[in-house]
Amino acid sequence: MEEEPGGTPSLREASRLRVIQALQILGVTSRADVARHTGLSRSTVSTIVAALQAEGIVVDRDPDGRFPGGGGRPPAPIALYPAAGLAIGVDFGKRHLAVALADLSHELLEEEWREMPDDYDAATGIDSAAEMVELALGAAGADRERVLGVGMGLPGPVHRSGVVGSSAILPGWAGTHAAERMSDRLGMEVWLRNDANLGALAEATWGAGRGTSAMVYLKLATGIGAGIVIDGRLFGGAGGTAGEIGHTSLDETGDICRCGSRGCLETYASAAAIAGLLSRSLGEPLGPDDVTQRAVDGDPGCRRALADAGRHIGAAVADLCNLINPERIIVGGSMAIAGNVLLDPLREAVGLRAIPSAAEDVEIVLGELGERAELLGAIALVLHEAGPAWSGPAPAVNTATATR
Ligand SMILES: [Zn+2]
Repeated sequence: MEEEPGGTPSLREASRLRVIQALQILGVTSRADVARHTGLSRSTVSTIVAALQAEGIVVDRDPDGRFPGGGGRPPAPIALYPAAGLAIGVDFGKRHLAVALADLSHELLEEEWREMPDDYDAATGIDSAAEMVELALGAAGADRERVLGVGMGLPGPVHRSGVVGSSAILPGWAGTHAAERMSDRLGMEVWLRNDANLGALAEATWGAGRGTSAMVYLKLATGIGAGIVIDGRLFGGAGGTAGEIGHTSLDETGDICRCGSRGCLETYASAAAIAGLLSRSLGEPLGPDDVTQRAVDGDPGCRRALADAGRHIGAAVADLCNLINPERIIVGGSMAIAGNVLLDPLREAVGLRAIPSAAEDVEIVLGELGERAELLGAIALVLHEAGPAWSGPAPAVNTATATR
């Protein structure tokens, strides 16, 4: 049953908060999309939006001000009053650190990337990130009081407790309470997820996964991970570690993996595993990204190694398709630049190994957000997790400038 605008005051308030929360997650959007997202009727949404516009909480929005990967022009676009809330994203990579700041209409106000030394530890990472957040807030002239929170991503398992698990990519972070340390440092609420989960959220919000009911983002890089988004929400599982597809065991007599199991997908198909294989056969040391670049440049051995990796990944993806029947699989991470050299064998393996109906339902495509997926996903995480920007009375906004 759906409440109408004439419902009880508590129902009206609940619907109003659902509309605000939907706008926070959708950014520049249409009344029709808000109705779809909330399950409220279009007339209820129109009534609530009109009231929010009168309060200055919702403003008309030029569609050209849209966030990356924007797609089509929505009819009569609306958004939350942009400056009333800010979301901060932090992406810790193996050799980089990135920080971005966005407003409630999903407009990116600041974005800064910094190179980091190999194997930097948690203390160094958090110090640098806190400094970059302060710089970004200063550069944007932003009010700290308006910050809804900070989303952070890192390449390693992150448990729901906020503790970082053992990571081969950032070994100096294992066992740290990274979110708590950052929160103490900045005096802001902080949410932490693994990088593949954030890539999934970003592609679902702004990239190749928009509008899907069930999608999986595959991060194919030094390691292999996945993020699962169902009905617009990140699926974390019981402890937050859902999506560890890289540790699907393909051969129980295979090499011992860093996770302790044998013959995991990662030991065959990660960029690190392929680089190890080719370094031995070519007699020269190759880094994980060298193989992909050489494949792009036409090297036959590197192309063959990536095609084999695509087939191995396809075997694990076929099982995933049988289990959750996704509408779209989105391939990101540094190996994605190999394009169809990797994707064609992957698609073929899924076609052969998944049950026909699951294979027919799924579309396997490249991500649209590239190396920025994790950083943008950290911002999306805040917009999802922070709760509606206005849960109390309307803010004192200057409606004269609310049409910017
Ligand atoms: Zn493993």
